[in-house]
Formats: sequence, structure tokens, C-alpha cells
Amino acid sequence: MPLYEYFCEPCNGIFEELRPIREATVPVPCPECFKDASRIMPTSFAAFTFRDGYPRRIPDDGKFYHLGKKVSRLVTSGQPNEHPEVNKPEPARVPLKGEKQELQDMRELAIKDDLVDNMGNRISPTEVSTMVKQGRIVKQGKPERG
Ligand SMILES: [Zn+2]
Repeated sequence: MPLYEYFCEPCNGIFEELRPIREATVPVPCPECFKDASRIMPTSFAAFTFRDGYPRRIPDDGKFYHLGKKVSRLVTSGQPNEHPEVNKPEPARVPLKGEKQELQDMRELAIKDDLVDNMGNRISPTEVSTMVKQGRIVKQGKPERG
């Protein structure tokens, strides 16, 4: 017998049931509340999990569904369409020793008013690390303006 997926609305849960093919679309009582649960069509499943929020798997394994992926906890704040387990943030890059020295050198140039961006604008010592982090051009040179 094939395995089908059913959704119980009161429980907001999904469970699987082995059914004969001819009975697949007949509602099945939910294993937790015994109310009739209807079959989830395989083609509607992805859209379904998005639309109805966070269905859970019955029997409950304590996991949730978010953005179509199983996750261990719900996120109730933060950016929509983001989840720390679904969109893992890149670990912060630790600057290398040489890079730190380079930054220090650039700051010293900035103090001596000898550091500009690609437009020839003056860069102040406090702007150096932000500019470098943003990947903007920072080079030695006398400011033309600013
Ligand atoms: Zn139920």
C-alpha cells in the first residue's frame, strides 16, 4: 500500500498514512484529535506549507516547517523569508594579521591627510575600516577636494 500525506487543520499538522490507492482521497482521522484530515496532493504540498504557516509533523517530533524545510524552532521575529536554520549566516571573517597592519597603515596615511577614494575625496581615519569592509577603493594620495 502506498504512503499518503494528510493535513489536520485543527492541529495544523501533517501525518502519513498507508492506504489502498482507491481510498487515498477519502479523509483519514487525525491520530491526535480524530477529526477528519484530507489528503495533501503531492503537487500542492510546497505551496501548502508556505500558505498555512508552520504545519507540524504528527506524531509530533517537536519540529516545524519553515520555507519548506524542517527546522527545530520557530522564528517569530526578524526578516520575513529568513530563518537562521534555513539561511545560515556566513561566519564573520576574522581579519588576518597582515590586513590589520594594512588598515593601521591606511589610518596613519589618513591622519597625515594622504588618503583618498577613487574620486579623490579625502578619507578620514575613522572612515578607513568601513570603506575597506565595503570593498571601496582607498589609496594613497593628496585629496583634491573635501
Ligand atoms: Zn488533529
